[in-house]
Amino acid sequence: MIEGIHIILTYKCNFECDHCFLYCSPQSEGTFTIKQILNVLKQAKKTGTVKDIFFEGGEPFLFYPLLLEGIKKASSVGFKVGIVTNAYGANSREDAELWIKPLIDAGLSYMHISNDEFHYEDEKENPATIAYSVALDFEIETLCINIEKPKPTSSVKDLNEKGYPIVEGEARLRGRAVEKLIKDLPMRSWQDMKECPYEDLDDPSRVHVDPFGNVHLCQGIIMGNVWKKSLTKIISDYKVEKHPICGPLIRGGPAQLVKELNISPESEYADECHLCYSVRREIIDKYSEYLAPKQVYGLK
Ligand code: SF4
Repeated sequence: MIEGIHIILTYKCNFECDHCFLYCSPQSEGTFTIKQILNVLKQAKKTGTVKDIFFEGGEPFLFYPLLLEGIKKASSVGFKVGIVTNAYGANSREDAELWIKPLIDAGLSYMHISNDEFHYEDEKENPATIAYSVALDFEIETLCINIEKPKPTSSVKDLNEKGYPIVEGEARLRGRAVEKLIKDLPMRSWQDMKECPYEDLDDPSRVHVDPFGNVHLCQGIIMGNVWKKSLTKIISDYKVEKHPICGPLIRGGPAQLVKELNISPESEYADECHLCYSVRREIIDKYSEYLAPKQVYGLK
């Protein structure tokens, strides 16, 4: 049952991080209009199951008036509202208060702040630490997202129960992360990648909706398009086993995707997401209804 909608307010970001699975950058295209936000909120309400709305990106603070109005509207119709931000603009305590206080007055309940080496290297005090402390003072639920670069653990005895090398760090190997972060990681045979490790594709509890109307089950895997069909209908029509990408994934993980779609893979990949993403990138033109937008695959 879908209880959360994450609105990708914009694909634009002030950063261009190596681990970004949406390939966001200052040049990225795609930002919601206020009319589109209201449309998605209306559709979310109609589902009868959605309780939480998150605004994220890209960097949602880049479009502050839009974010503020979106939070106001979402909260006024009864959703609990959160944001995911790198705290763009929180350059001092006073500035952070100036940015955050109106959002709280508009109904913001959760604030998830990215603060890691990808965003701020090793700066001890940065916009994220400032915003974190200000949000705590305002007593809203605040979480710090700290993603580390993936790296193999140093000792050869660090193997998991299946005998695979353990890779540390929380970066997901999709999007730009595949281009930038897989070098030097230990590789495994693709045949062993028989399960999707992170997403409940059978019964998703949250989806992402982007400015092009795409409803994402995992970044770049599309359930439907809310500009073409209502969210309620997209959800009721979704049968995982019939979805050309999610069907194979639930039947046998990324390895099954390779088999059912007749792909010739490399022999080894860093993990399940690396294989899944690489296969999808190869077949994107054939399955354009289910794999979109091209920019999250680093393609034009
Ligand atoms: S295996 Fe594929 S669907 Fe599952 S989390 Fe990784 S990229 Fe997403």
